[in-house]
Amino acid sequence: MVSDDRYEKMIEAFALAKNFLKQQVDLGFDEVYINKKSSPKKVFKAAKTLNDFFQEIKDCKKCHLYKTRTNFVFGMGNPNAKIMFVGEAPGREEDLQGEPFVGKAGQLLDKILAAINFRREEVYIANILKCRPPENRDPLPDEIQTCEPHLLEQIRIIQPKIICALGRIAAQALLKTKLPLGQLRGKIHDYHGIKLLVTYHPAALLRYPQYKRATWEDVKLLKREYDNLG
Ligand code: SF4
Repeated sequence: MVSDDRYEKMIEAFALAKNFLKQQVDLGFDEVYINKKSSPKKVFKAAKTLNDFFQEIKDCKKCHLYKTRTNFVFGMGNPNAKIMFVGEAPGREEDLQGEPFVGKAGQLLDKILAAINFRREEVYIANILKCRPPENRDPLPDEIQTCEPHLLEQIRIIQPKIICALGRIAAQALLKTKLPLGQLRGKIHDYHGIKLLVTYHPAALLRYPQYKRATWEDVKLLKREYDNLG
């Protein structure tokens, strides 16, 4: 006979597993990483880790950008983060250091995070492309298409509750739209069951400080959504 307490835990475990599988399907993945010895509640723990995935793709040569990169820029932060920030591609400093959002734009992102009581280590930060496009040009559609599965896998592993797309290119790539950033920001989008918000890229704020007010409105919305997660 199963006790009420155990029964409730089983229901909770099955609900977790069901949500996990639904998200896999929504994200278009046809593989599920489950250790056969694990209970349903341990499905998340049994999944491939970010480090496993890093090792798997760190020498990626799927598109021509590998030829000009100094470093592959995987992403950084808390592998259990509830919030993920996604930019478009590494710039010069990121390419040299192998980390996303370093240099002046990264410092500004840190300040934005601090303004809503987050530290960089608490969130996860990544880009759509893992290698720098030459001369910091915009990523090409075929580069995005080739590299995006890497980001999708990171999202699948981290399972954030909220994604914040930084800049037009990241927002358009994730939401599969050509709408301008002005029409995408200021609202909550659904990204395969994950809340997605859009705001300006910190590098754009350095060039156009007049966007800072709108960015502040966006990050306040982000913080409200985060606080509502409970
Ligand atoms: S940009 Fe992405 S797909 Fe292209 S080589 Fe780098 S990691 Fe691979």
